[in-house]
Amino acid sequence: MSASVGFTKRQSDDEGASRLLERADYALYEAKEQSRGIAVLFDAGHEALIRSTRAVEQALRGIDSNKELTLAFQPQYDITHNRIVAFEALARWNSDKLGRVPPDVFIRAAERSGLMTSLTPVLLKKALEICAAWPDDIRVAFNLSARDVLSSKAVDRILEIVETSGVAPQRIEFEITETAMLTDFTQALNAIARFKRMGCRIALDDFGSGYTNFGYLNRVRVDTVKIDRSFVLELDQNDRAEKIIKSIIDLAANLGIEHVVEGVETTHELQRLQSAGAKQVQGYLFGKPMPSAEISNYLRQQYEGNLRRREAV
Ligand code: C2E
Ligand code: CA
Ligand code: CA
Repeated sequence: MSASVGFTKRQSDDEGASRLLERADYALYEAKEQSRGIAVLFDAGHEALIRSTRAVEQALRGIDSNKELTLAFQPQYDITHNRIVAFEALARWNSDKLGRVPPDVFIRAAERSGLMTSLTPVLLKKALEICAAWPDDIRVAFNLSARDVLSSKAVDRILEIVETSGVAPQRIEFEITETAMLTDFTQALNAIARFKRMGCRIALDDFGSGYTNFGYLNRVRVDTVKIDRSFVLELDQNDRAEKIIKSIIDLAANLGIEHVVEGVETTHELQRLQSAGAKQVQGYLFGKPMPSAEISNYLRQQYEGNLRRREAV
């Protein structure tokens, strides 16, 4: 048996039982997040975090999402054909009250407070409007939260937006993490089946992080696995990371599933990935997330680079 402990110290008389419990509970949550079987004392850092989380949640409640939310797009690159296959849409929030808030901060806050399902439709509409102007053979990848997948009303809304967008569903890939499947597998499968029936593609995001269950690849008909950046980070440290990446790529290929390796930053990493059989990659080496206005320029540069390469051969 093991136990995690969260505890707090009473500092003044006006701290009632509920405040103390809230803090101890927060410290317990931290303890469980860090590792099993440790004790955490609530401190000033936690206090600041709680306060900033509250501020973010409050600003989210008053958000003018059409105005304050925008998207950045990051290319997914096919290194065997030297071409861009997709752009992943990544949410950006420039809050009237707080300024720029990092996506992982506000997405987590929106998920926790149940506001995510009202942000997703706004983001998806914007993403599809933008992608409609790209060449037909370039897809858009769009992130869905567990909340979007687990509510059938939210799925209705998403499908409706796809239908009225004028963008071919085959050009849309929804990225889903396993959190949704861990929470309610049947409902997640149901949602995925509905997306697929419409013709949309499904990617399993952050594959290999957390509690990845290889069984999902058998039970869920995904089109792409996105191999988590954590493996790429370990490429320099040992041979195992390369072997694991190769095994995931091979396994996926045997099942007819495509892959994208995430977070490729250096040419050295790229070389290791090539020897592991990687075909599609995403990361700073090929392009950071960019505003939509920069995409046509970026595509032109890529195209001219390819022409130059072809002429040189
Ligand atoms: P993600 O889906 O795993 O997206 C990839 C993140 O890795 C992005 O961070 C991207 O900027 C970053 N990244 C890409 N290449 C590299 C690299 O070479 N090196 C490093 N160090 N980082 C790289 P970002 O934009 O901050 O997004 C963070 C997370 O927020 C996303 O992780 C996704 O989980 C969530 N998110 C973003 N937009 C949305 C959205 O519209 N809806 C939902 N539900 N979640 C979103
Ligand atoms: Ca993603
Ligand atoms: Ca990812």
